[in-house]
Amino acid sequence: MSASSRELAELSGPALNATLTATSIVVLPVGSIEHHGSHLPVATDLIMADEMSARAVDEAAQAGLDVWRLPPLAYTKSDEHDWAPGTFWIGADELLATLRGIGRSLARTPARTLVLINGHGGNVAPLGVALRELRRLYDLRTFSLSVAVPSAPEESGLGIHGGWGETSLMMHLRPDLVAHGSATRAIPEGLADYRHIGFAGAPVQFGWLSDDFGFDGVLGDPTRADASAGASVAEDFVRIAVESLEEISRFDPAGGGA
Ligand SMILES: [Zn+2]
Repeated sequence: MSASSRELAELSGPALNATLTATSIVVLPVGSIEHHGSHLPVATDLIMADEMSARAVDEAAQAGLDVWRLPPLAYTKSDEHDWAPGTFWIGADELLATLRGIGRSLARTPARTLVLINGHGGNVAPLGVALRELRRLYDLRTFSLSVAVPSAPEESGLGIHGGWGETSLMMHLRPDLVAHGSATRAIPEGLADYRHIGFAGAPVQFGWLSDDFGFDGVLGDPTRADASAGASVAEDFVRIAVESLEEISRFDPAGGGA
């Protein structure tokens, strides 16, 4: 382990216990192993959560924050891609049970703050449930932050899976794993006809599977993705994550933000 490593799992148990304090922030990266079309690896969300959290934790530590990282959680709730070979998923109940176990284990250490850095949209709802469970059961301060993958304007707000943002980010992080030549545009234009029904943020939500839209499981337009756009997506996310960790370090719901 290098002197500057913030990887908790590289420490011995006694060293970990002596290192963490009541003010330590522990980051758990949360990925997924799921179908991302023919141009991206199934580990896309895991790689994004792992790499982005590592960069954020390193930068936050250099800025003086008492922040540490656990190994990533790879298998999570990807039931929307259950139909596709290459998806390895657990259910929402199993994810919640796993997070409960990790929270229970963290509560054995002096640390009291857990931050989930999430790479997979399908985890947002169960992670929200877990934040409250761990708050109530183990008196932890709990937070979550998802890797923000922007849509390109030509994706009509539908670049949510394997599209421009995610493909660009992967071309920056792991160009060796991206088969950009096999990327195709997959935008369900008909969804724009509905005023109220839509994806996150719309007043009417719907239960969907990733093969409901007539494509190969991708939702977005990866064809114009490029590594330099991915580099700025990464830079923006790391900056927001470091600022967020700083806010978390002084967050007091009863005392305001001073
Ligand atoms: Zn993804």
